[in-house]
Amino acid sequence: MVVQKFGILYSVLKRSGACVVWGGVALALMCAPALARASFSEWRAGLWVDAEAMGITRVTFDRELKGVTLNRSAPDLVLSAGKKKKRQDTGQAEFVKTPGQYLKKSQLSFLAKRGRQIEAKYRQELLEIEREYGVPRSIILAIYGRETAFGSYKVKRDTIRALLTQAYLGRRAEFFRNELLLALKILQEGHITRRKMRSSWAGAMGLTQFIPSDFYKHAVDFDGDGKRDIWSSVPDALASAAKQFVNNGWERDKRWGDEVRLPSGFDCTLEGPHHMRPIKEWRALGLNLSFGKKFDSVRDDEPAYVLLPEGTFGPVFLLSNNFLVIKKYNFADLYALFVGNLSDRIQGKGKIEKSWVKAKFVRTWQIVEMQERLAKLGLYSDKIDGKVGAFTRNAIGKYQNSNGLTADCWPSDGLLKHMRKTASTE
Ligand code: CA
Repeated sequence: MVVQKFGILYSVLKRSGACVVWGGVALALMCAPALARASFSEWRAGLWVDAEAMGITRVTFDRELKGVTLNRSAPDLVLSAGKKKKRQDTGQAEFVKTPGQYLKKSQLSFLAKRGRQIEAKYRQELLEIEREYGVPRSIILAIYGRETAFGSYKVKRDTIRALLTQAYLGRRAEFFRNELLLALKILQEGHITRRKMRSSWAGAMGLTQFIPSDFYKHAVDFDGDGKRDIWSSVPDALASAAKQFVNNGWERDKRWGDEVRLPSGFDCTLEGPHHMRPIKEWRALGLNLSFGKKFDSVRDDEPAYVLLPEGTFGPVFLLSNNFLVIKKYNFADLYALFVGNLSDRIQGKGKIEKSWVKAKFVRTWQIVEMQERLAKLGLYSDKIDGKVGAFTRNAIGKYQNSNGLTADCWPSDGLLKHMRKTASTE
């Protein structure tokens, strides 16, 4: 009881302390503990200064922002304690699902089949796009399939509202503020009407889900009607996705990656893009393609790195620089694996030899604790974010190696117990 009372008192003090800075009844909503956010009207005034500098007229600015409300139930927001949703949605399925759930075979097969139909329909355009940009049509189709299930998944949010919400309340507010300004510019220049400018909660628009800055960096008019229509022209959207790949460094005639077989006793701490080395060196370490196939010696000098989404348990991949280009579309290993594998499946290949075996991850807080402990031991220096990526698995493998455990580079309940026990006896 005492603790509870103290807790309330503390939060009131903290809250009122923050409110003094801003004062006024209207600002009370903004007075969250430790949340020094400008009032909406102040913030909007600052936005106008930058909009004007970008060439946006007052007419556009007022017309497009008039009456737009914030969507407080959007994912990834930083809300005051009273307004927080019970379970904050991070909107990032790539880190919540296990590889087996994310790379669901039935979904991949379904999309591959549909992809081949789309390929037949736009064959001429796809061949031209492939020739001009050097990105395989199967990869472009895989992006189209992954992003909007070939245009069948309609994003429904008003882009301006989605971006305004993220720009004012979002965890990545600065990033989205710029996207909001560019969205206003797109409307002012008449590329699309406000009614048709629909997006995801993060402002990703059109058939291949471009955010406004992608539009200005990569959008092309491929069907020759004078408009860069990423919203409804399939050739424009696919060519724009290809252009994005080229702009991000896609290497012509190179693969994204392959499933490989590890030799027994392979050191799992060699995982990750920071261990990139020529394929011939991996071959010398005993790696080879799945299903007993051999790497073509033509690829000997291609740089590649190993990815172990389930540590040493599940399928293992040897990935190229092109894989990192796919990741620039969406920075998640599983996303890029999905696209790569779907692209293979569209070509009638893509069977994965090894099965995914992990039905669930340990809990996020357990990962956080492991990351903190590993950081303390000097084995981990990346973000403490509760997400299991190559750097976390690397650090786990190093810990296992230095403690005489079998290194599988996989976080488990048992491993966390070991870390706690070791720390308490030191
Ligand atoms: Ca066009």
